[in-house]
Amino acid sequence: MSNNKYKVLIVEDDRNISNFIQTVLEANGYQALSAERCQQGLLVFASHIPDLVVLDLGLPDMDGEDFIRMVRAGSTVPIIVLSARSEERDKVTALDLGANDYITKPFGTAELMARVRAALRSSRHPSPVAAPSSTFALKDLLIDYDRRQVSVGGNLIHLTQTEYNILAFLSQHIGKVMTYSAIIRSVWGSMDDGSIKKLQVNMANIRKKLGCRPGDNRYVINELGVGYRMLEE
Ligand code: CA
Repeated sequence: MSNNKYKVLIVEDDRNISNFIQTVLEANGYQALSAERCQQGLLVFASHIPDLVVLDLGLPDMDGEDFIRMVRAGSTVPIIVLSARSEERDKVTALDLGANDYITKPFGTAELMARVRAALRSSRHPSPVAAPSSTFALKDLLIDYDRRQVSVGGNLIHLTQTEYNILAFLSQHIGKVMTYSAIIRSVWGSMDDGSIKKLQVNMANIRKKLGCRPGDNRYVINELGVGYRMLEE
């Protein structure tokens, strides 16, 4: 067995789901570790320092949210949250606490592997905020952070300040689902009843200006009821 395999920690009390994930990961060349409870998960995390965590939110001893808080206190390891449809709010809370992504149960092999690869890729991206070069490129989209300018295929796109701030914020968290409240707090500073609607309207305008028709997810994916995600290549 090679030592350079990615190590993935699965924290899930449902044996069927845990075994399924483990089998899929191992078949794809990953090393899988598993824990059925939060406490055990934290111990395995501390002793093995995995490259990725797949975390169920409903665990017998503690909330998955507590696990995220504790891990995030000292680590930027990507965390993918598993949630049931009835846990919509928990999913959003988990993302706001620093989880990178979520998968809704039931899910299949292809979706699981796509999310795992994306989370590992995004954890390797150096933060554009800290990078000395201050441009961002995705396909034909270019953002110049110094000039606060956006272009598509070399053509300058005229965005409002708010639209620019939203797009820049998403680009600085590429590959990661950003919740409505995370975007709103970053762009407007605080949240009120009309904030989500205001964000959605701005987002629709951004997409239009970037030349995206409805349903065209070239740059940004609409994560229904949760937020938005800037796509990776
Ligand atoms: Ca569970």
